[in-house]
Amino acid sequence: MNPDIETDVVIVGAGLGGLSAARHLQERGYKVVVIEHHSKPGGYAHFFRKEEFRFEVALHALDGLGEGGWARPMFESLGIMDRIEFNELDPFYTVGFPDFEVAIPTDFDQYAAVASDVLPGEGAGFRGLFAAIQRVGHDVARYTEVRRSGHRPDDAEMLTDFPDMAVAFNVPWAVFIDQYLDSPEAKALVSTLWGYLGLPPSRVSAGQFAMTILSYTTAGAWYPTGGSGTMTWAIAEVIEEHGGEIHFRNDVERIEPADEGVVVTTNKGLTVRARAVVSNASPTSTLALLPDGLVDGDWGETAQSETPSLSSLVVHLGVDRDLAAEGWDHHEYFDMPTYDLEADYTAALEGRFEDAGMIISNYTVTDPDNAPAGCTVLVLTTLAPWDHRDAWGTGGDLENYRVKESYQRVKQEAAEKLIARAERRIPGLRDSIVTAHVGTPLTNARYMLQPEGALYGREQTVVNQRFRRSPRTPIPNLFLAGAWVGGGGMTPAVGSGKTAAAAVARYLRSQTTDNGEQRTE
Ligand SMILES: Cc1cc2nc3c(=O)[nH]c(=O)nc-3n(C[C@H](O)[C@H](O)[C@H](O)COP(=O)(O)OP(=O)(O)OC[C@H]3O[C@@H](n4cnc5c(N)ncnc54)[C@H](O)[C@@H]3O)c2cc1C
Repeated sequence: MNPDIETDVVIVGAGLGGLSAARHLQERGYKVVVIEHHSKPGGYAHFFRKEEFRFEVALHALDGLGEGGWARPMFESLGIMDRIEFNELDPFYTVGFPDFEVAIPTDFDQYAAVASDVLPGEGAGFRGLFAAIQRVGHDVARYTEVRRSGHRPDDAEMLTDFPDMAVAFNVPWAVFIDQYLDSPEAKALVSTLWGYLGLPPSRVSAGQFAMTILSYTTAGAWYPTGGSGTMTWAIAEVIEEHGGEIHFRNDVERIEPADEGVVVTTNKGLTVRARAVVSNASPTSTLALLPDGLVDGDWGETAQSETPSLSSLVVHLGVDRDLAAEGWDHHEYFDMPTYDLEADYTAALEGRFEDAGMIISNYTVTDPDNAPAGCTVLVLTTLAPWDHRDAWGTGGDLENYRVKESYQRVKQEAAEKLIARAERRIPGLRDSIVTAHVGTPLTNARYMLQPEGALYGREQTVVNQRFRRSPRTPIPNLFLAGAWVGGGGMTPAVGSGKTAAAAVARYLRSQTTDNGEQRTE
């Protein structure tokens, strides 16, 4: 069979993992073709328009983009820094607990100072904790340098040379902070961001939590003018300017080994022959695209046994009031009904949205163009399970689920709970809503093809963070990029694409003879 297109590398999925892999491969001199299910690039990193409002699907804040930040060099490689304006959020966020409200600055030292001001009895504990977080950061920076030099420290070396990192990546955040803080209030204050990682303090990696706080408060929290979709269209543009092709509205249905490479086929009948493939889909979804029996043994079993991270319930509201002018000027406001964040997690897991932590985001504060003059884009977000009320009233039958009365009812009831809570903070909100759109875990699965609508790939447990999945697979020319490999979040997805590109390049070089031809044996 003659393929429609021949290229060096075909990329399945134009999420940030796939786009980054494509661009980093181009930087290494390879030709790329990207195939995307949706009609736009970015996966979760995109927006949609309803009436005159522009709604962000996912992004609240990007981390690590400031000078010296870990993500900045990668974004520079994507070629978009001079095309997109990134706005720094300050404060990073405001959190409202039952008894106090506090704005958290995007500055590490000021964060520690603010925490001590709010809860002075814990001042020594906060100082101890923030110093420990900083030591973890130093270890991680030194470890990264050592890894770049090609050396991989063993467990014994980790304990002697990188002790703070070794400990932090071996315990959950709850154990780490218990060494310094006593009160539930103080522990909750430094754990507000658990929703950004998808697991509560008792289960999420302390190392990852510490690095998340450090990254946002040393290299800033950022939101691009025009939203994340403007950013991902810009990356797509750069890829096309460098000769890459992106085919939208195409679902890859098969990845099959072929002479000297693979052939990828889509539901529209498009065929692409390439020397290697990078899949931005989850490992299980990728496995399903391969011929039966091609991958057997541990890899497939591990992939299938992994628990997806939690999903989300997002209520997008167009409001005909300028809420910022009225004083509600928070880009990011955490509405936390309890100090017990384990109970908070259980509430999200059980779909008790009246009790779960919720973020209220005013997207008009950072980018007034998101709404017409005098209006506001307000988005209410909480974590949510796939199996809420029998898969959101569908019984698991996703065929035309959106027109099912039971789906609409369950979705609406859940959304109403968030709106009622937001109205307690913003009186009269309900009467000001001119348009409302609700995204459930099923919406995530439909547009992003993520298993169970997962936000962050697999659960970000201590073990999963310590033993990161490799971009390589048992098939030598099949690689993975995205949150399932690099960890949840947009910058980690970009990082995973860079790592995958390096692994593909190593493979392709190994397949090239000394006189520059492709090995065929
Ligand atoms: C509500 C919400 C809020 C969030 N907030 C933040 C935040 O503030 N900051 C942050 O950093 N992160 C945030 N995240 C997490 C972040 O968006 C994701 O972890 C990250 O974008 C995942 O990127 P990815 O490349 O792994 O996957 P995705 O974005 O899911 O992209 C995968 C792409 O592959 C395509 N695809 C899959 N299979 C196929 C196939 N067979 N054929 C063709 N195409 C295919 C999909 O259509 C999709 O475009 C949030 C997520 C959500 C949902």
